Amino acid sequence: MVTADVISRDRQTGDNFDEGVHLALGAAGYLERDWLPESQGGFSAVQRRIWELEIGRAHTPWFHWGTTAMVANAVHDFGSDELRDEVLAKTLSGHYRLCLGFTEPEGGSDVATCKTRAVRDGDGWVINGSKMFTSNAHHAHYVFLLTNTNPGAPKHQSLTMFLVPLDAAGVDIQPIRTVDGDRTNITFYSDVRVPDRYRLGDVDGGWTVLRTALDAEHGTGERDESGLQKIATMTEHALLLAEGLDAVAGSGATSVVGEDSVAYRLGRSVARMEAALSTPGMYGRVAIATALRELSPELMDVQGASGGLASADLDAQYLFRLGVPMGIYGGTLEVFRNMIAQHALGLGRPAYAPAAAGRS
Ligand SMILES: Cc1cc2nc3c(=O)[nH]c(=O)nc-3n(C[C@H](O)[C@H](O)[C@H](O)COP(=O)(O)OP(=O)(O)OC[C@H]3O[C@@H](n4cnc5c(N)ncnc54)[C@H](O)[C@@H]3O)c2cc1C
Repeated sequence: MVTADVISRDRQTGDNFDEGVHLALGAAGYLERDWLPESQGGFSAVQRRIWELEIGRAHTPWFHWGTTAMVANAVHDFGSDELRDEVLAKTLSGHYRLCLGFTEPEGGSDVATCKTRAVRDGDGWVINGSKMFTSNAHHAHYVFLLTNTNPGAPKHQSLTMFLVPLDAAGVDIQPIRTVDGDRTNITFYSDVRVPDRYRLGDVDGGWTVLRTALDAEHGTGERDESGLQKIATMTEHALLLAEGLDAVAGSGATSVVGEDSVAYRLGRSVARMEAALSTPGMYGRVAIATALRELSPELMDVQGASGGLASADLDAQYLFRLGVPMGIYGGTLEVFRNMIAQHALGLGRPAYAPAAAGRS
């Protein structure tokens, strides 16, 4: 099903999505089983592990499903019955996709500084603003949109979440290509009218709704006891690094592999990659992105000039380009390091000193 054509089209478009593959997985019931807990018919821990490994091994265009599943959880937990009926079954069959609209052109790490406004208008709301990096919006049907409904209130009490249909009048989606060739979008909302049933959670209570989704995105939720759960978010990227490393080490064209200095660098790279693959939770998220960023230049060095020209799927320069956004999306490495310091090591909230007098 994930043919060479699917992979090559995905590389060219940067979509991380293939509708044929997605609908086939939905029709086979896999999306539903991935989303449901085992007690309600979802995968067992062993089945889930096999499923995740196979999705990664096949290089399935896939990253859109993580956001879709996350938003489906929010609809399930915070949406009205009417909204659940409208959205969930078609999402689990693959026909609807859901994307995230948190980040804004003026900043994303502190999402609570949101400027996109939602204003009550009779039974509904009127939304105005813009969102940066609305990945997959061009293949999605709804955006999980963070809005400000109370500009005068403290920022965490000013937010309301909506599920906005992307075919609503006033929504505009424009493409952005990233350094690794991915396609994401900037989305604009101009007098977009949505009925109140598209609201998720309480008015001005959006932080609670958003927090649950962000915990899932950051991989800071509870771990189960099976020992089979994915060790960190984005381990798929580390598996790509592992494949790239194997390809360079095993490459007949790389005649230098036998030299001691090269063997040393490859060996050190493998050790660091294995350490990243064994590092759990938030620490793992940082370790994987750092390994990708720091080891891919080693591989490019070993590959030499041929690396830049290689047509292989996983040449080192692609891994190098992938490492840049991987340290940004879903939270930057600096923000993750702060979260580790604060929540895992108990070092307290970072205190940001004001700029020294006379300096900006
Ligand atoms: C390819 C891609 C896809 C994305 N997809 C989505 C998506 O689908 N939906 C969505 O809503 N967003 C998406 N994002 C946005 C992403 O989550 C943000 O880019 C990220 O949270 C950082 O926000 P920012 O880019 O506004 O950087 P800023 O927050 O402006 O940060 C700028 C710099 O300051 C540093 N910094 C910021 N705050 C702190 C702090 N407290 N301590 C230390 N350093 C700090 C950052 O590390 C960074 O180096 C995507 C981003 C990319 C690159």
